[in-house]
Amino acid sequence: MTAVKPSDDVEFDSEVPLLIIGAGAAGLCAALTASEAGVDPVVIERDAVPSGSTALSAGLIPAAGTRFQREKGIEDSAKLFAEDIARKAHGEADAKLVQAVALNAGPTVEWLAETYAMPFEVITDFNYPGHSAHRMHGLPSRTGAELVDRLRSAAEARDIPILTGRVCETLFADEDGFIEGVGISGGETIGCGALVLACNGYGGNRELVRRHIPEMAGALYFGHPGNQGDAILWGDALGARVASLSGYQGHGSVASPHNILITWAAITEGGFQVNRAGSRFHNEALGYSEAAAQVLRQPGGVAFDIFDARIAGIARQFEDFRNAEKQGALIIAQSLEELAARIGVPADAFKDAANVTLGKPDRFGRLFEKKLEPPFCAIKVTGALFHTQGGLAIDAHARVLRENGRPFENLFAAGGAAVGVSGSRASGYLSGNGLLTATVFGRIAGTSATKL
Ligand SMILES: Cc1cc2nc3c(=O)[nH]c(=O)nc-3n(C[C@H](O)[C@H](O)[C@H](O)COP(=O)(O)OP(=O)(O)OC[C@H]3O[C@@H](n4cnc5c(N)ncnc54)[C@H](O)[C@@H]3O)c2cc1C
Repeated sequence: MTAVKPSDDVEFDSEVPLLIIGAGAAGLCAALTASEAGVDPVVIERDAVPSGSTALSAGLIPAAGTRFQREKGIEDSAKLFAEDIARKAHGEADAKLVQAVALNAGPTVEWLAETYAMPFEVITDFNYPGHSAHRMHGLPSRTGAELVDRLRSAAEARDIPILTGRVCETLFADEDGFIEGVGISGGETIGCGALVLACNGYGGNRELVRRHIPEMAGALYFGHPGNQGDAILWGDALGARVASLSGYQGHGSVASPHNILITWAAITEGGFQVNRAGSRFHNEALGYSEAAAQVLRQPGGVAFDIFDARIAGIARQFEDFRNAEKQGALIIAQSLEELAARIGVPADAFKDAANVTLGKPDRFGRLFEKKLEPPFCAIKVTGALFHTQGGLAIDAHARVLRENGRPFENLFAAGGAAVGVSGSRASGYLSGNGLLTATVFGRIAGTSATKL
């Protein structure tokens, strides 16, 4: 049971300078940074092997001004990046946090590449809605499993203890909100000099999702089930400020019934979505996050991604796409009539939908630049909740803020445990905001926690 209890009279079983709850991207980046600064962190993780939502992701981190971009002649800057984040979040994101992530993302990706030999590359053969430059950086497999495995190996190489199979349940705090230690399932207590909450959001907690994000209450949750909202529950008990709890990252392209993420590259490169009536129903170019609710509103809560063989070739760089193909999710046909028949939608409506106008915005406001060419492809998809974007309010040093706006002395939060930079709506999520805040604020939290 998640709780905050008074620390008076608690005799801790052990004492460590820095405790980190959660061994996803945020927690492991915090641990590596602190260790580099000469402070020995201990990480507590509920799973037997660290994975988190990080392992379920495509592992793509947006960053501006990197050497990977320069090598490919891409012009970008932290200023442009910050503007993109702020615009997508409808101006709702905290400007100081936006500034912090935009400025620090490049150095963070380069730090992972140089210090921990992670072979990042910038993706140039497609772009995500809202990014005005190619700035998504990924590892060879394009999986977050590779990212979290590499982070774990790096932590092991630095002898950072990751106490797995332990759920942190209790925070022990004094009357001023100074965190003295934590209680772990099974009764063990650990005292700490500082605490970083890196235990992600509340996507896995149906009750909290129903309360804060009713439009996703019945949706498939595609993130890590261990993300139960512990950070905001502790925060609530401590008198911390929370923000943007209705914000979330959805995704409108999860293969059904295979439950495998189908990259939005299938759409941005000229693909589109139709419902069971064979009709388009939204402007797919706005983004995949807002597409989740759009798809779920269609008959049966499903849609079809429609694209062509050229686009399938781009999508195949993602292991997930290759797995979906292996499992038979991809339907290929030589003509639109044949594709309509194979996916079971009315041919006339489908051909109408495929007959997009080039060069001027259509009735949904989408501008197409190319038409699809045979062979045509389809994948049946549904919408899903990926992770929550609301969380503990933090400042640019990743310090958790009290209701009055003042920081707690030794409590930090990063990644999905903290508020993101996406504002209060699904449409505010700019692709990559998840790992962006996890890695950058993980690193910042690791630095701040060592300066107490
Ligand atoms: C399918 C999918 C695809 C995505 N693709 C991308 C992408 O390409 N780019 C991007 O930027 N973002 C993406 N995201 C979002 C991204 O995965 C998350 O924003 C990011 O992984 C959050 O990192 P984190 O460290 O905060 O949380 P996590 O990686 O979820 O780690 C939190 C850890 O805390 C542990 N934990 C929780 N509570 C406790 C507790 N009480 N005690 C002990 N341990 C606890 C959990 O077990 C977990 O291991 C995607 C998400 C999904 C679901």
